Amino acid sequence: MSHIDLLDAPDFRRKLDQCIHCGLCLSACPTYAVNQLEMDSPRGRIALMRGAADGRIGLAGAFQEHIDLCLGCRACETACPSGVQYGLLLETAKAALAEEQTSARRGGAEVQRVAEELRGVSPVFSAQPPRFRASAPKRNGMAELVQRFGLRELMPSRARLRWLARGLWLYQRLGLTAIARRVLPQLPPALTTMEGMAPPIRLDYPDYSRPAPAYGQRRGKVAFFTGCVQDAFLAGVNRATVRVLQRNGYEVHFPASQTCCNAAALHSGDTAFARDLARQNIDAFAGGDFVAIINNAGGCGASLKGYGHLLADDPAYAARAQAFVTKVKDISEFLFDHLHNPPTGRVQARVTYMDSCHLRHGQKVSKQPRALLRSIPGLELVELSQPDMCCGSAGIYNLLQPEMANTVLDRKLADVRATHAGIIVTANTGCYMQMVYGVKRAGLNATVMHVVEVLERAYANTVSE
Ligand code: SF4
Ligand code: SF4
Repeated sequence: MSHIDLLDAPDFRRKLDQCIHCGLCLSACPTYAVNQLEMDSPRGRIALMRGAADGRIGLAGAFQEHIDLCLGCRACETACPSGVQYGLLLETAKAALAEEQTSARRGGAEVQRVAEELRGVSPVFSAQPPRFRASAPKRNGMAELVQRFGLRELMPSRARLRWLARGLWLYQRLGLTAIARRVLPQLPPALTTMEGMAPPIRLDYPDYSRPAPAYGQRRGKVAFFTGCVQDAFLAGVNRATVRVLQRNGYEVHFPASQTCCNAAALHSGDTAFARDLARQNIDAFAGGDFVAIINNAGGCGASLKGYGHLLADDPAYAARAQAFVTKVKDISEFLFDHLHNPPTGRVQARVTYMDSCHLRHGQKVSKQPRALLRSIPGLELVELSQPDMCCGSAGIYNLLQPEMANTVLDRKLADVRATHAGIIVTANTGCYMQMVYGVKRAGLNATVMHVVEVLERAYANTVSE
């Protein structure tokens, strides 16, 4: 499908028309908070999409800049009183950009005209130049090749990602980190971010070759979606997830042919490949009579729950996708209803919880992780002043747009610092790694953990008491 077909589709236009230009989403948008520029707000981006759909602006240049600078955090969806499905609009815009790489560069002047039109509806319109421009177009040459290799060859392969993790483990064990930190300030900020994001690698991966048995009274069996980066680089989170499920009476299965959820493919506009991955996962988790399909990463979960929409026009998979989605649960969402054996061990710590955007805004799961944390004896939960504001991770956004990502991160770190928390709890792979980097960047005396790691620590303390 050409970019014109994508943008001119009646469903896309109907979704655009849901925006009533009220501007209530602006204060929720991290990029608007930084740049104070209408075109870097949800309303401005929707206006750009409408301009592109009407053929008034091209996709190259300014359109791409403002779309690429969007974090995809979907905070605007939660704030919107009109039910605008911004995440789906953005997916289509990204897909159109991927399709149309050589559009005539008539964007800049036309975008200004759309901006002028917005003066009438936007009291906060600013003609100031943005503080940060999106990085130069990445959809060409070597960057395109690397991105494509990463999305198509690396992320769907557990074996390849684990080899990468082993390389990182060796790098950390040889103490090359200290040397690299002396060199990295001279290199592009994306490399500094990448190096800083790496958590201490552990290679004792959970055994996925056979089901993990339930402990105590058996309540049923669940399937576990292991994730790609999550599995290779944060094995401890997956291990804790399995243990907590076992402790609550669930037998945990690991369907062997599962693959990457497709979030990264969707975010880069590779819709065809995203559909292939979705079909593969639906096949992998078919049958088995599972109570639920559990995942522990907000970004993956939002993508898995999006399969129904993604495959709605696929006659062979539409119904199966809907059935699959009804079973997908974030681990906090599932445990909130199925914590049959609450932990009794203490975790004596001051803790803050930062929402994963795709868990809170994409899946509407926010009270469950907090309730689980509050159930742990000794734990003091301190709320951030803006717990729902993005941390700047957003998949690989922090590598593609490091300046904006770091500015958004620094706001989050200031918020974290004010809580004096010793543990920063997250519920998503990207947020976890971003905060590992953030703790180093801000020199915080804090540990980063996933909700299930804190729960597992409480269970472990029960055993040792
Ligand atoms: S997804 Fe996030 S960054 Fe993008 S427009 Fe919405 S609130 Fe702003
Ligand atoms: S809150 Fe919703 S309807 Fe209002 S401007 Fe933002 S996207 Fe449009």
